[in-house]
Amino acid sequence: MARIAVIGGDGIGPEVVGAGVRVLEAAARADSSLELEFERFPWGCEHYLKHGRMMPEDALETLSSFDAIYLGAVGWPSVPDHVSLWGLLLPIRRGFDQYVNLRPVRLLRGVGSPLAGRAQPDLLVVRENTEGEYSDAGGRLHRGTPHEIAVQESVFTRRGVERIVRYAYERARERRGLLTGATKSNGISVTMPFFDEIFREVGEEFPEVEASLMHADALAARLVLDPAAFDVIVGSNLLGDILSEITAAVCGAIGIAPSANLDPTGEHPSLFEPIHGSAPDIAGRGVANPAGAIWAASLMLDHLGHGEAASRVLGALEETLAGGVRTPDLGGDAGTEEVTRAVVRRLLF
Ligand code: ATP
Repeated sequence: MARIAVIGGDGIGPEVVGAGVRVLEAAARADSSLELEFERFPWGCEHYLKHGRMMPEDALETLSSFDAIYLGAVGWPSVPDHVSLWGLLLPIRRGFDQYVNLRPVRLLRGVGSPLAGRAQPDLLVVRENTEGEYSDAGGRLHRGTPHEIAVQESVFTRRGVERIVRYAYERARERRGLLTGATKSNGISVTMPFFDEIFREVGEEFPEVEASLMHADALAARLVLDPAAFDVIVGSNLLGDILSEITAAVCGAIGIAPSANLDPTGEHPSLFEPIHGSAPDIAGRGVANPAGAIWAASLMLDHLGHGEAASRVLGALEETLAGGVRTPDLGGDAGTEEVTRAVVRRLLF
């Protein structure tokens, strides 16, 4: 039995994870070896506006007893972004040492993309999630003068780089055996050469993986022109962030892409979510695309050791989209409910 904490969050978040939970329930109904239990937590901006906190003080303690966390989206125009980010997502990422941010990118059938008619990508972006450029170390000097200076340090630790790079090599080994490390050691002279050095060192443990380093700017251009050339890409927090957005964009709409924040050791629960935000412009209208949340649910099943059920969920989603049941962001006229029902039907019958 896997216990899943469901945090719908804000805007379209509860709509799309509601759809994802129904799909997961259908997957469990169709497979007696899959037992899932859900508990819902009403945390997010509404909670903040009522109680002054995005989630209760003991939230991490509560979540720690779950096998996985399924999140919709957090953020609302009346709450500053840093409050929603620092009040919910970052404490979970950091508290549970979810050091891998994983974004699979594949063009699903039935989804238009700028790549139509060209070789189709199937790749995995592995982003470091706990350190690097997104550190709090730094400050501003000579504020308000013409000589004002802002300095922010990047913090790369041997442990942090080794574990993310090793994770990426492992994933590459079980896929097509190709790993690209994103670097910028031609401009950043301390942290990036350190990253490169560890990338090569760890690579010695994986002679079967064909690994290379590429400067992030050239890599970004190649991703746009020829994403099918890549298998697994690993990057620091900032480079991985940017590259994963680019890959998601070339593979279609924002409503489709999923992401996982993983603690691969299994000591803490990992978190699964669609990459999109709370989309206030369409919230409550029943037109949100549930595909990203459903794909995230499939990633969650895979992480929980139910690989076959994960493939069935993704297959049912892909067949639904290819069959023309699509939300308006994909050029269709179906609502969230219709897409969800079509996916559930494919799983059950
Ligand atoms: P954030 O800063 O939280 O990422 P954002 O406004 O930059 O928020 P989104 O909330 O993801 O980004 O919305 C960007 C645009 O994409 C909006 O016009 C929104 O309606 C659309 N969008 C996002 N997710 C979906 C979805 N699941 N289905 C349909 N449209 C979506």
